[in-house]
Order: sequence, then C-alpha cells, then structure tokens
Amino acid sequence: MSRTSNDWLLTPNGDPRGYIQPERLDELWFHTGTNCNLRCPFCLEGSKPGDNRIEFITFEDFLPLAKEALPLGLKRFSFTGGEPFVNPAMVQILDWALTHRPCLVLTNATEPLMNRMAEILAFADAPNALSFRVSLDFSDPERHDAGRGKGNFRKSLRTLGRLHEAGFSVSIARLQEDGEVPADADAAYSRHFAEAGLPEATRIISFPDFQLPGSIAEVPHITEGCMTRYLTAEQRSGFMCNFSKMVVRKDGKLGLYACTLVDDDPDYDLGSTLAEAQQERVTLKHHRCYSCFAFGASCSEG
Ligand code: SF4
Repeated sequence: MSRTSNDWLLTPNGDPRGYIQPERLDELWFHTGTNCNLRCPFCLEGSKPGDNRIEFITFEDFLPLAKEALPLGLKRFSFTGGEPFVNPAMVQILDWALTHRPCLVLTNATEPLMNRMAEILAFADAPNALSFRVSLDFSDPERHDAGRGKGNFRKSLRTLGRLHEAGFSVSIARLQEDGEVPADADAAYSRHFAEAGLPEATRIISFPDFQLPGSIAEVPHITEGCMTRYLTAEQRSGFMCNFSKMVVRKDGKLGLYACTLVDDDPDYDLGSTLAEAQQERVTLKHHRCYSCFAFGASCSEG
C-alpha cells in the first residue's frame, strides 16, 4: 500500500489531489476474471482467452463479502469481466445473489452466455430482478465485428432479444467516438432494436476509450480545488467510488478496489473487508478518473 505516498496525495505540481470520501455502499461489483472468449484489441481490462491477470472469482470468495455487504445498505450486486459466463461459478453466484438483491451482469452475450441459457432463463422467476448490459460497440455491425469477431454483432443482438423476451431488463454499452453527436450515435441503434424486438427506449450507455490496463495517459491532473470549483455536490456524489466497490482476485488474494476502472493500480486496493475499504479516501490519481471528472463516466446503472 502506498496511500500515504506523495504520488497518491499530491499532483506532480505538489497540489493536493481531488478525492472522494466514500459515503455509502449502494453496489458491490465482482470482477469475474479477465478470462474471456473474445480478444478485443481495445479491452480496458486486457481480457482474452486464458487470461489470468485477474483470476476467476469463486463462490467461496463471493459469499463472505456478499454477506458483509447486505447490512451496509447494499442495493444491488453487479458483475463484470472478462466474460462473466466463462467463469464456472457464475450461475451458482447469481443464484445466491438473486435471492437477496437485484443483479446486473455485463456480458458480450455470445457463446458462454448462450451455452448456459437454460439456467439463466430460470432466473426470470428469481426473487430479485436480473439485468444484462450487452456490448454492441458500434451501430455498424461490421465495425463491431472487426473488434469482436465475425458474426458476433448479430449473435449478441439475437441473445439480447431472447433475454428481453424472457422478461429480463437489458441495456447496451457502446463506444464513444471523437466528434460524435451522442443522440445521433444512439439513434443509429434503433433499427437493430426493432430487428431484435427490443423497446425503442432500450438504455444505451456510452464509454470513452479507457485505454489498455497499465496505460499512462496524458490527462489533466485533478486537484482538490477542481472538485469544488467545477463540480456540484450532486455531481461528486455520483462518482462510482462514492457508492461502490469492486472485488478483484489477483495473485491468489482478494482485494476491494475503489471502482470498476482502476484494478490495474494496486494503490486502489482499499483492503480486504468492506468495513476497512469504506473508510479509505480515494484520490483521483488514475488517468481514468479524468473521464469521471470531465464526462461523468460511470459503469453504474443505479
Ligand atoms: S475512475 Fe472514477 S469512480 Fe474510479 S476511482 Fe477514479 S474517479 Fe473514482
């Protein structure tokens, strides 16, 4: 841990870094592992087949932290990878989680999910709602397939339609492009939604290029003054690190990270219990923090 180091606390100019002091725990994310059936060159997690940078979370890892989270006011569990359904424990974990809280799964909605469709469909009757967010990077299927493999746009779209038809709430994640008009970029998905039988108003979450894990990006440093000069209290409250944590298994050990975007920097491993991690102030040192600061980027659907 180096959270008392100058680098954590101060910008290179010596100004106190902007920070978030976590206020609550609305959602607990689990990183299911960076093993993925796809190999997308832009993946912010660097996920690919057989990858082990972040290891598979097990049911035994999940259970104590999930139980610790419930009485802390937790509203939902969320899961991201890699591809969550590559993880052999995913269905067992969801089975437990859905008896206690609503769950969100970020997935590419290709073979790993399709192969477990019968078990997943059974969750339509679970005590809490299960939602899926499916990556459709671009509205042009060829561009999506250039990153994710031929035929995968239509495969994911068909799976989305099937999940919606079964009663699950679905959303999509797309990639932002320089100079885009967001409303136009979103509207270009309408014909695909119609084809899959999805509602016109299906939620679309767009993300900037977060770059590969370990990248050093040149972005402005965020000082303590920036946080109050440019943001309202409500905007600061909406930072994921204010109301969530992500469980990550690395090198055989579990860590609680400040959010879904900083698992490549060990400074953001805030401890091994939620009680401990909730006390830790999170400075905006990571280059991806700038996306939260400047664009309100968030993986949350809360
Ligand atoms: S990336 Fe965003 S949510 Fe994560 S620690 Fe930085 S500011 Fe907080």
